[in-house]
Amino acid sequence: MTSKYYMPTRVISGSDCISNSSELFKTLGKTALIVTGAHSAKDNGSEKDVRMALESVGISYLLFDKVKSNPSVACVKEGAEVARQNGVDFIIAIGGGSPMDAGKAIALLATQDIDEAELFSGNYKASALSVACVPTTAGTGSEVTQYSILTNDKAQTKTSIASECLFPAVAFLDPKYMGNLPVGTTVNTTVDAFSHAVEGMLSVRASFVSNTLAAESISQIMECIPELLKAVAAGTHAIDPRCRKTLLQASMLGGMVIAQTGTTAVHAMGYSLTYFKDIDHGRANGLLLAEYLRLVEREQPELSGRILKVMKLSSVNQFRKLMDGLLGVKEAISAEEIRQYSALAIKTKNIANCTFKLKEEDLIRIFEASFAG
Ligand code: NAP
Ligand code: FE
Repeated sequence: MTSKYYMPTRVISGSDCISNSSELFKTLGKTALIVTGAHSAKDNGSEKDVRMALESVGISYLLFDKVKSNPSVACVKEGAEVARQNGVDFIIAIGGGSPMDAGKAIALLATQDIDEAELFSGNYKASALSVACVPTTAGTGSEVTQYSILTNDKAQTKTSIASECLFPAVAFLDPKYMGNLPVGTTVNTTVDAFSHAVEGMLSVRASFVSNTLAAESISQIMECIPELLKAVAAGTHAIDPRCRKTLLQASMLGGMVIAQTGTTAVHAMGYSLTYFKDIDHGRANGLLLAEYLRLVEREQPELSGRILKVMKLSSVNQFRKLMDGLLGVKEAISAEEIRQYSALAIKTKNIANCTFKLKEEDLIRIFEASFAG
């Protein structure tokens, strides 16, 4: 099989990397739209650092700070309108996956009118404004992917727009912005990154390069799990800064993985938990990951064995215990909900990425086992 690797994003990391690299913004354009959520980018200093860097190199900017979690098409259309009306020629997206994904979709929609159906079917020109990303959660890896994941109300799920033109031009990774990230969000986003690396190894598109990146991401996250469990038990966001740095790196590696492999059944099923039950994206994946791995163990024991070995665990049960410890008390789910979500997930393109053929009954069993006990 032919395998390919492509990831055109320039990655700049380290403390104060934005102010130390402000000249870079001049390569992206003359007028920026800074895209953020309502609060965190102001509170953690990232928005101020970007504004100061832009001012130091004479670039004008506007702020669009209306992105909510799980961004909608209406939100990104509004952002694109602001970009067009003000002659914006590049985007700087700051925040978790939601503002970064919204920033990419705004970059696309600022260059062309695309109606909702065509946006999700991929029927548009591969042309978008340049995007710089500043991740302030360590989970999605969106800063190095060609995906923008938006809420798709018509299909009652979340759908990814994927185009090489959406790879950010630059990603700035500075862990100092995560100092006050609440422990719940820290755990959920870590679990998302973990899921990207594991699902990448479980994808038909896995390659030597993606598996190498995934194994490193999994190892780095495993190193941080004891610190996370301690923070969960103490209910504190005070997490060792070295661990914050490691998680940010591991999350980026996870993004580099899914940029090549896509995600699998876990993300497909998790989208319903987010859409219908408002469960955070990363947590939704984490709730399902161990039971998916158990199914893989039945179908392809060599593959699940390889992943457990990277985690330095000896069984799926041990992995399940670890995830249960991180995620705590689970939400309730009804048999009717399980049937509905499984019927939706089986139709998604992520299912075709799995290394064996999944049936709707398999998804039902994964949901049932994941929420039991
Ligand atoms: P998020 O929805 O971006 O943010 C969650 C919450 O964390 C928000 O309330 C946000 O506040 C807050 N927050 C962000 N950074 C913070 C910080 N440093 N300190 C304190 N609070 C902070 O969550 P996410 O898990 O990072 O992203 C999830 C989204 O990414 C989903 O839509 C998912 O589908 C998508 N995703 C994308 C990819 C991809 O490749 N593109 C991959 C996986 C997932 P504010 O709203 O005030 O900023
Ligand atoms: Fe994800």
